[in-house]
This record gives sequence, structure tokens and C-alpha cells, in this order.
Amino acid sequence: MNDFLVSIVVPCYNEAENIAPLLTRIESCLHEYRYEVILVNDGSRDGTQLEIELAYSGNPSVRYISFSRNFGHQAALKAGIDHAKGDCIVTIDADLQKPPEAIPEMIDLWQKGNDIVTAVCKNEGQSSLFKRLSSTGYYSILSWLADHEVVPNGADFRLFDRKVADIIREIQTQNLYLRGIFSWIGYKQAVTYYREEKRILGETKYGIWKMINLASNGITSFSVKPLRFALSVGLFFAGLAFGYGVYAITIVFLGLTVPGWASLVASIVFLSGIQLMVLGVIGEYIGKMYMELKQRPIYLIAKTNITLPSDSQRKGSYSLNPEERRPIIT
Ligand code: UDP
Ligand code: MG
Repeated sequence: MNDFLVSIVVPCYNEAENIAPLLTRIESCLHEYRYEVILVNDGSRDGTQLEIELAYSGNPSVRYISFSRNFGHQAALKAGIDHAKGDCIVTIDADLQKPPEAIPEMIDLWQKGNDIVTAVCKNEGQSSLFKRLSSTGYYSILSWLADHEVVPNGADFRLFDRKVADIIREIQTQNLYLRGIFSWIGYKQAVTYYREEKRILGETKYGIWKMINLASNGITSFSVKPLRFALSVGLFFAGLAFGYGVYAITIVFLGLTVPGWASLVASIVFLSGIQLMVLGVIGEYIGKMYMELKQRPIYLIAKTNITLPSDSQRKGSYSLNPEERRPIIT
């Protein structure tokens, strides 16, 4: 038995059927290690909480955190990381698409001195063509925008060192995009590969809107290049409009005015379209700034079996436990 502790953080949203099989698989591949599993119930509406409590009563290494409502995958990961006690922390989905059997190899790479080990899916064939194409395109745009490479297809299945977890605990942002944060952090990084399995029980919780939201958070939280791009587009068309204005005045003086209704309407429509687009980009950033300004906690804990640390150490959460009802905003 090793003397270090491995924390396994599992965000769960309506995953009742998956809890028991997941814990069995984790136990069978990690029985040689000292480990704790932190199940984060992200406001599930099915029997997830019941399954979690059942698992907890039969297994002392199971901890759980239950949110007061659905705060999203990234917030659930953050809560688990904030409360993990391990020397290294692994984040993995509850749906068994990512095999816990890959964890020992990740621990191995960590012991060899890597601080962040990202597991990358090597059989993309399992997901739809749309998901594959959009993901490849998205990650290349994101890496360019963010000025540092974001590991593609590293879908929040990774292991990282205690010191990385401590940095993430300090990060308080509503626009949480952990994949970007992990590549921004730097340190010694390694990659390992796994084969993704088909989701057998339950269904995907990442609908198109959640995907768009995550993608937009990824871009806006790491780069202001879209604002600069909007400015360039704005300047380019302002230049064109100015040129056209000069042309229009010249032909008035030359007495060449013709009923230019079509070109007028076309340019107004076109330019207002561009203006709206630019305003939209600016609005997206202002909206994100507004959300940040409110400094609300990223998640609210309704129930947990983890002894919450003192207020000064706790970040980003607000406990709804009756005996813990004090705001913990830092
Ligand atoms: N999840 C979550 N909150 C959400 C959506 C998803 O905690 O609002 C969890 C979900 O239970 C799963 C993981 O995040 O453990 C990944 O979600 P999913 O498998 O639905 O995404 P996909 O694999 O289809 O991208
Ligand atoms: Mg999945």
C-alpha cells in the first residue's frame, strides 16, 4: 500500500444507475492505493443522492457534496477539487465512458514527476461526426486565441498534483473553463491515451446549449482577441463607408445623382449587421464582467459528509447546512 492519498472527483448529474458500477470499478483497479472518492451531486433530480448515501454507508472512502441545484459540470469539478485532500487528484465522469482502469497509469506518470496528466480519447469514432468536427475546429481556434496550447479532446479526465489543486482552489471565476486553466497553469504536463466507451446507462447531459456555453466561456475567459477582431472589422467597414461617402458627395457635385435606393439599403443592412455583431461580441464580455462583479459563490452546498474547513480556508462555496449557515465568499 502506498502512503500517498489519491482523490477521485466525480461530478454526477442524474447518474443514479452509474454510481454503484463506477465505485466497483474504481475499487477493483485502485485497491492497492489509499484513495477517497468525492461524488459531487450537481442537483440531480433522479435517485443519485440516494445511491450516493447508500454507497457512503457501505464504503468509508466515499465522500459526497450535494449542491442546492444544478450548477454545471465545471462547478461540480471545482467543488470536488476544493474539498479533495489527496496528494494527487483525478477528475473523471460518472458515466463510465472514461475507464477508471486508466488511473494507475496516470498515477505512474505522476510519480515520475509529471504534475498534470491529461487523458486523451484516442477513439473519437464513438462520438458523432458533428461533435468530432466541431471539437477539432474549436480546439485549434482556442489554442490560437489563448496564446497557449489547449490539449484537444482532453475532456476533463486528468490527474494533477496537490500544488495544482491548490492553485485551482484560489481561482474564483464564474466563467470557469478548467481545460483552459490546466493548460494555462503550465508545470510539467504529460498525456496518456484511453479508449472511450459507449454510455450504457443514462444519457448525455451536454446538450447543444451547454456545449455552446462552455465553448463561449473557454474563449472569453482566455482571450480578448475577439474584441480586437471586432474592432478591426469595425474599422475596415468604417473605412469602406467613409470612401463610399466621399464618392456619394463627389457625384452630387458632378450632377450624377441617380436613385441609389438599392445600394443604400444594401449598405445600411450590411453595416448594421456588422455593428450588431461587434456589439454582440462586446456585450458577451460585458455580461461576463457583470457576472464576475457580483462575486457570487460558484456553487452552494446543501449537504455533505465532508467536514468543511474553517471559513478562511474555504473558497467559492456557501454551505446550506443549518449548522454551517454563514456566507463564505472570499
Ligand atoms: N455533469 C454534471 N453537471 C451537468 C452536466 C453534466 O455534473 O450539468 C456530469 C455528468 O454527470 C457526467 C459528466 O458531467 O459525469 C459529463 O457529462 P456527460 O457524460 O453528460 O457529457 P458528454 O460525455 O456527453 O460530453
Ligand atoms: Mg459522457
